[in-house]
Amino acid sequence: MSASYDVVVVGSGPVGTAVARELTDLDPSLQVLVVEAGAVVGEVPGGHVKNIADVAARDAALAALAGGPAALPGGTAARPGTVLVGSADMPNAAISTNVGGMGAHWTAACPRPADDEVPDCVDPAVLDAALTRAEELLAVTTHAFDRAPLTGAVQRVLGELFDRPGRRPVGAMPVAVSVGEDGALHWTGPAVVAGDLWDRPQVTLRTRTLVRRVLLDGDRATGVEVVALATGARDTVAARAVVVAADAFRTPQLLWASGIRPTALGRYLTEHPQVMAASVLDERYVAAGAPVDVDLPRSSAAAPGGGAIVPVSGVSWVPYAADRPFHGQVMQMDASPVPLDPGVTVRPGQVVGLGWFCRKELSPDNRVWFDDTATDEHGLPAIRIDYRLSDADRATIAQATAEIRGAAEALGRPLGEPFLMPAGSSLHYLGTTRMGTSDDGSSVCDPTGRVWGTANLHVGGNNVIPTATACNPTLTAVAFGVLTARALVAQMAPVAEEAHA
Ligand code: FAD
Repeated sequence: MSASYDVVVVGSGPVGTAVARELTDLDPSLQVLVVEAGAVVGEVPGGHVKNIADVAARDAALAALAGGPAALPGGTAARPGTVLVGSADMPNAAISTNVGGMGAHWTAACPRPADDEVPDCVDPAVLDAALTRAEELLAVTTHAFDRAPLTGAVQRVLGELFDRPGRRPVGAMPVAVSVGEDGALHWTGPAVVAGDLWDRPQVTLRTRTLVRRVLLDGDRATGVEVVALATGARDTVAARAVVVAADAFRTPQLLWASGIRPTALGRYLTEHPQVMAASVLDERYVAAGAPVDVDLPRSSAAAPGGGAIVPVSGVSWVPYAADRPFHGQVMQMDASPVPLDPGVTVRPGQVVGLGWFCRKELSPDNRVWFDDTATDEHGLPAIRIDYRLSDADRATIAQATAEIRGAAEALGRPLGEPFLMPAGSSLHYLGTTRMGTSDDGSSVCDPTGRVWGTANLHVGGNNVIPTATACNPTLTAVAFGVLTARALVAQMAPVAEEAHA
């Protein structure tokens, strides 16, 4: 083995970065290696692509990440920064391979899970504290869009429709976005989660390096086998513990390739069926709203494809409740996503995009599985997806469609009919290494992320979330990553004290 670390973390997305940060915050003596298959995008490791101020540089960075099929049958083109890995069942399933993972590209909506979304395998007070820590790491706020025009009007209309006693009220979406003193918006990428992590002498980030195997000796992970993607050179790295946070498709892929195959591996795959609509806010609300020449919060970056402003001037939220199994992410825009009648002009914030994310029923038959007869570009078993909507899912989607239609009408002039996006569009993939309280075949890991049957191999990411949820998952996944790091620190402390005495 060429090198030895206390902990090797696979993947530098929000979760892998949070695990490394928390580990070394809590125990600065720990030597930690983060292995990332992708390269740095832009100048800051794990920086959000929207924060790259120069449009040409940003477009070039995104172009360098493009690849895979342009679109799969039934699907649409991959979102910038992602590559499609789906199949006919889930044509828009996608991954990101770069430092920061999908967290360098995300929209940064960070609602907390509520009601029956909340996993019951962790003490509620412990989970609550971990969610608070995750909010700190991601710099979550409900105030980033306080100055956005017409947001108050949008929230009033939606509040009248959806607020009920006992439900969380319509309001600002919690987002991982900071506002600088100059009013510039800054999207949280894993660079924010990292803080000074990459400057810490005990932490190493190896980029463009793929983990091909987790090495095991009995029930103990002893390290990982890696390949440098630029040269093809293979190497092994020793570790006292390994954490795999390589997304909901590639985390189970790596376990499978390593011969670690619990019954539930890859099963219970869910995403959030996404119903979309748009509406032009009625003039009477515009007239009653804030002055329209108010300064919009400007981004340090230009809009994709040019333009001076990021085309989102407000993000509102219709929270999930168990009796309405979806939540609404409402984005106000400065321009219409569809052509408007000639002569119609819209004011900043007047076009309202509505996205309802639905809860999906859990089923072991929905799964990612790995084809030992075919390999991907790295020689790992090829990713295959089996995924179906149930009758209950269709009923939920119908309910969400009716609700979003009503919301679009109440706001003003709907732009077309609501529609369901192709499966995989939410980019929220969950459940494929889900946690549970016992090794009964329906889970892959315990509530600390430790894989059943192993002493020191942990998994992290949206894939550990065990419940059927509708809320955007990253905040919850980072909270579980925090708990994994804490468990590892507690487990390693006595040995680390001896080793470093
Ligand atoms: P990822 O961010 O996917 O990172 C995994 C990393 O592991 C990748 O960098 C990958 O290269 C690396 N990796 C994989 N396999 C290997 C290997 N074998 N060896 C080495 N490295 C490996 N979520 C929300 O909660 N709210 C939102 O508003 C939201 N909006 C989104 C919008 C977009 C456009 C996109 C793309 C995503 C969005 N998401 C959102 C999803 C969010 O980005 C993910 O939930 C989050 O990034 C998951 O974090 P992660 O660390 O588990 O995985």
